[in-house]
Amino acid sequence: MTTVTRFAPSPTGLLHVGNIRTALHNWMLARKAGGRFLLRIDDTDAERSREEFVAAIRADLDWLGLVPDGEERQSARGALYEREFARLVASGRVYRCYETAQELDLKRKVRLGRGLPPVYDRAALALSEADHAAKAAAGEKPHWRFLLDHGQPIEWVDGVRGSQKFDPALMSDPVVRRADGSWLYMLPSVIDDIDMGVTQVLRGEDHVSNTAAQVQMFEALGAEVPAFAHEALLTGAEGKLSKRLGSLGMAQLREEGIEPEALVALLARLGTSLPVEPVADRAALLETFDLATFGRAPARFDEAELHRVNAGIVHHLPFARVSHLLPEGMGEAAWEAIRPNLAHIGEAADWWLVVTGPVPSAWLDGEDAAFVRRAGEVLAGIVWDGGVWKALTGALKDETGRKGKALFLPLRLALTGREHGPDMAALLPLIGRDEALARLAG
Ligand code: GLU
Repeated sequence: MTTVTRFAPSPTGLLHVGNIRTALHNWMLARKAGGRFLLRIDDTDAERSREEFVAAIRADLDWLGLVPDGEERQSARGALYEREFARLVASGRVYRCYETAQELDLKRKVRLGRGLPPVYDRAALALSEADHAAKAAAGEKPHWRFLLDHGQPIEWVDGVRGSQKFDPALMSDPVVRRADGSWLYMLPSVIDDIDMGVTQVLRGEDHVSNTAAQVQMFEALGAEVPAFAHEALLTGAEGKLSKRLGSLGMAQLREEGIEPEALVALLARLGTSLPVEPVADRAALLETFDLATFGRAPARFDEAELHRVNAGIVHHLPFARVSHLLPEGMGEAAWEAIRPNLAHIGEAADWWLVVTGPVPSAWLDGEDAAFVRRAGEVLAGIVWDGGVWKALTGALKDETGRKGKALFLPLRLALTGREHGPDMAALLPLIGRDEALARLAG
């Protein structure tokens, strides 16, 4: 059986890091198994769903290279939901209810007062057809609940959490359809998962209790129950689900210079027993991807860690991947010389200016100034090739006895205007002979 996974965001806002993590893991599950990864836009909530968010979801997945093999939209699937719902009506697995929110609240309180679990008491099941007719005549419209089967415990082996067991008698029959005919999330999701051939549902552990009810919905619709896995939620570095984490969108990360490879490398392994490493190669990440490595404790997302992974990724990005992001004229040799000094690709422009100049003239004391001037004379007599830095410093060392910092720092200062930076052996050939002679002359 081909593995089919899906990512099912509601387009009521921008995707944040936690959503992206779920999308990534579903993509990885499918890719690793040679299966299919589907995008499902859960837009049954017409009021809160917005087209701009649908576009942003697609753009974010695209940016991360998590390209779906197919896409469905719940708003276009109403006919299917009606059909399947009619089957549940016919088999008596959904029933009409009329309680208001206040009435339900009161019932809950009464039950709690009696030491009973605060679940719906199924009072509406006792209504006769005449009762329903009277309600309809009075203009009352029913909402619908799914009738849980209390006959046996609900069980599944969760891909992350292991063996799960729920007593349906301790759960309220879930409302699946509102009085205005609109759908709540639970049932359309099951109908879609069946219709889309989803074999693995991987989502956040906030859905565990939904899963218990949904397992019975799959069964009531005569379908095989997919494999379920619920991953621990992400928390901010400070330990709780922070506002910032919940709102940290991809556009913002992009602006901060985070590369998609970095986010993927971090999220692929965060909360697993595998080490987080700046691995840009997706095949390598897929190789080690395994739900068995996922921990049950909340995974801590630390932005500083993301930036560290990002730097590690940038240090190895090939020229072809970044050339369109670099300043005019900056070639492969320059990229390779400069990238070890970057936390973000955007900083390359700054270092490129050090190559092209002009650079601020360095303040050097008399001895160092004389040494640098002498370096210019020596350089003028050296063959200009890839080994020029080594030849220059070798000659100066022999001549002056300087070594280490005393040898290198004045040269770096005069040639770049800075105390630190890329390897001079790689930088000097980029600066070029005439420019280097001019900078050493002061
Ligand atoms: N639209 C639901 C959500 O965003 C989907 C949950 C699921 O994966 O089934 O929470």
